[in-house]
Amino acid sequence: MSLQGKTAVITGSNSGIGLGVARELARAGANVVLNSFTDREEDHALAGALAREFGVQARYIQADMSNGADCRALIEKAGACDILVNNAGIQHVSPIDEFPQDKWDAIIAINMTSNFHTMAAALPKMRAAGWGRIVNIASAHGLTASPFKSAYVAAKHGVVGMTKTVALETAEEPITCNAICPGYVLTPLVEAQIPDTMEKYNMGREEVIKKVMLERQPSREFATVEQMGGTAVFLCSDAAAQITGTAISVDGGWTAL
Ligand code: NAD
Repeated sequence: MSLQGKTAVITGSNSGIGLGVARELARAGANVVLNSFTDREEDHALAGALAREFGVQARYIQADMSNGADCRALIEKAGACDILVNNAGIQHVSPIDEFPQDKWDAIIAINMTSNFHTMAAALPKMRAAGWGRIVNIASAHGLTASPFKSAYVAAKHGVVGMTKTVALETAEEPITCNAICPGYVLTPLVEAQIPDTMEKYNMGREEVIKKVMLERQPSREFATVEQMGGTAVFLCSDAAAQITGTAISVDGGWTAL
């Protein structure tokens, strides 16, 4: 399947799932716009490397997804935006009565409100182009809850709800809007937690992964960033043209429990 000639904007794409999705979209031929809030030399270098590897155009645009004006400016600066992947996200874990207000505000802004701004800015461009695909990276926590993650669970449920609303608002147009709900994915962020957890539980790497980290993931396997990217590419394909307003779980059975 070819996404040649399409431009994809992926928020929060200088690492992890965002980068994995950007890579798979580029492999399918799309030009890609990478984003994060950092604006380091290596962010721009990452875009250059992607362009060379896949023979597509790739750019990095700095924008802070906690700021509504920045979210909208990202879409404006991107020029075309045929495919929008809302991926930027952060986490904080704390009981609700101790949850710091600034962490709550940041999680709601980055993980949920940014999707509102980018979708609002991107839809007119998709309508003008006569084609559009929106893929929101939600989470198994967009469908179920865990203790101590009130802001994250609220934000991700919000993303799933917003996805359904935008799907209905665009239902008669050649535009779709879907959410991907990953379970535990082995990203650098998750990899970094393994050594500490091994020490805490006095377990080896495999035991920590299967018994502690993947306790709620029946497959006892991490999902991969390539699988998230492959699912995003499928949602951009003609085969998925009638798939809209759904939340697709890629979670090794987590939400089947
Ligand atoms: P990650 O930390 O590797 O990636 C997060 C990305 O968001 C980075 O590129 C970071 O630069 C960017 N980001 C953070 N704050 C930003 C801001 N203010 N403005 C712009 N960019 C910002 O983490 P990840 O695991 O790849 O997570 C990506 C998405 O997938 C998140 O929305 C996360 O909630 C979701 N998710 C991850 C998992 C998992 O197990 N890793 C599971 C379910 C859902």
